Amino acid sequence: SQLPADPTVENYPRQVEQAGFSYVLPVKPSNPSLIHTSAEVANAIGLSDEDTISLDFLNVFSGNKVYPETKPFALCYAGHQFGNWAGQLGDGRAINLTEVVHDNKIFTLQLKGAGPTPYSRTADGFAVLRSSIREYLCAEAMHYLGVPTTRSLSLMLSGDQVVRDVLYNGNPAYEKGAIVCRVAPSFIRFGSFEMFASRKDHTNLKLLADFTIKNHFPNIKEEGVEKYIAFFEEVTQTTLKMIVEWQRVGFVHGVMNTDNMSIHGLTIDYGPYGWLEDYNTGWTPNTTDNQHKRYRFGNQPEIALWNLYQLANAMYPLVEEAKPLEIILEAFSIDYEKEYLIMMLNKLGLQDKKESDLFLVGTLVELLERVETDMTIFFRNLSTVSKEDSGIIAFNAIKEACYTEKDLDETILKDWYDWFENYTIRINEETLSDTDRKVQMNKVNPKYVLRNYMAQLCIDDADKGDYTLLNELFKMLKNPYDEQPNFQKWFAKRPDWARDKVGCSM
Ligand code: AMP
Ligand code: MG
Ligand code: MG
Repeated sequence: SQLPADPTVENYPRQVEQAGFSYVLPVKPSNPSLIHTSAEVANAIGLSDEDTISLDFLNVFSGNKVYPETKPFALCYAGHQFGNWAGQLGDGRAINLTEVVHDNKIFTLQLKGAGPTPYSRTADGFAVLRSSIREYLCAEAMHYLGVPTTRSLSLMLSGDQVVRDVLYNGNPAYEKGAIVCRVAPSFIRFGSFEMFASRKDHTNLKLLADFTIKNHFPNIKEEGVEKYIAFFEEVTQTTLKMIVEWQRVGFVHGVMNTDNMSIHGLTIDYGPYGWLEDYNTGWTPNTTDNQHKRYRFGNQPEIALWNLYQLANAMYPLVEEAKPLEIILEAFSIDYEKEYLIMMLNKLGLQDKKESDLFLVGTLVELLERVETDMTIFFRNLSTVSKEDSGIIAFNAIKEACYTEKDLDETILKDWYDWFENYTIRINEETLSDTDRKVQMNKVNPKYVLRNYMAQLCIDDADKGDYTLLNELFKMLKNPYDEQPNFQKWFAKRPDWARDKVGCSM
């Protein structure tokens, strides 16, 4: 990068000025050990399976050794957090090792939890096993679901203890330290642009934009102002598509701050995320957001747009005209509604577009919210409804998705039967056979997702040094749309003990 580097090479938390990044070195872990590797990611960056079990792999991706001729660095960025300007932030516990080009694709390799950087502020720069497992597993699960995301290369134990909590008796609670290597074309965020804009450093704002476009958006051929408009348009589109995919699988990010928005439209920074179990658009897994629920499931499209407004403001000095940016922003909601409807119709197995479909989708969402209904099980089982079914018979196909049958009073049952009556009429208007519709639906309605309690069980075992469940879940989540009879037990509603239990991020 041509961005100005922090002239101070010493690595201590401070307010870095007039720099886009700082050179840093990972902290040497005292006893690194490999827990898991994503072979597919390793292969994608040009490593063989053999490489991944080598001592070099262990050393480089635990931060024990710096790969020859590379210069690890932490990026400076800023951001809006929970709707407020938070000023300068930066990679506080992320260290970019290097860039790799393989098969004409660019990959940035980044360690998370390998020690402090100048941007660590009051925190320690480390990560615990708990949050590292959550990030490692979920990013890969999202990829295999077809959701744009950063990838996970490796999960390691550092062999060191990390303190996150203080017990009631005043003693620190130690947890195992861990390091994830994550992979993305780059880790440039909306907040990277906001940082230079807030400093009124338009020279480096332009440098960052030019660098990003040249390296990562090679299809943009426009020049001058048009180039930045095309760039903003593409970021808007990829962000929109990412959100549609989140809504399709029931993913709630939990912390959609602008510093957690990838310029590539990738899901990034898996913290207090969660998966919808009962379909509830008002749900957020983030307990610190419990009052306003700003980042609730149903608000994610709106927040994406809000974040794009912040990016537009940051880009404005390069465009110097509000109109072209406004036009793109104003199209977002209409485009989103269009894409959302297509996505929902795919989930319902409907290929033709009918006037009445909007109503069919709207009433379904209302019904799903009326009593607790498991989103994943509902849509997966919906594919077993057949054209001959009556409303009652069709409803029985999804009944197991309801959390408590006693909530199903007469009024709701009647509404469900009506909805299914309409649904069976509607599938009879389609040319697809029951069998073919089922195949289509099962490609967009996953059978297996990383339910919150599953991640928690896996973490509890891993804390004791048992990675059997981690291996099992990883394997299962690689094929989320396949039946996988061996994993049938994970196609189940959240058990009652796990209600309102969400994992923690830090
Ligand atoms: P997040 O809410 O995870 O997106 O983090 C917000 C900011 O806090 C980012 O700049 C992080 O790098 C930083 N941060 C979070 N956890 C830590 C930590 N344990 N050590 C240092 N910085 C951290
Ligand atoms: Mg973050
Ligand atoms: Mg984070």
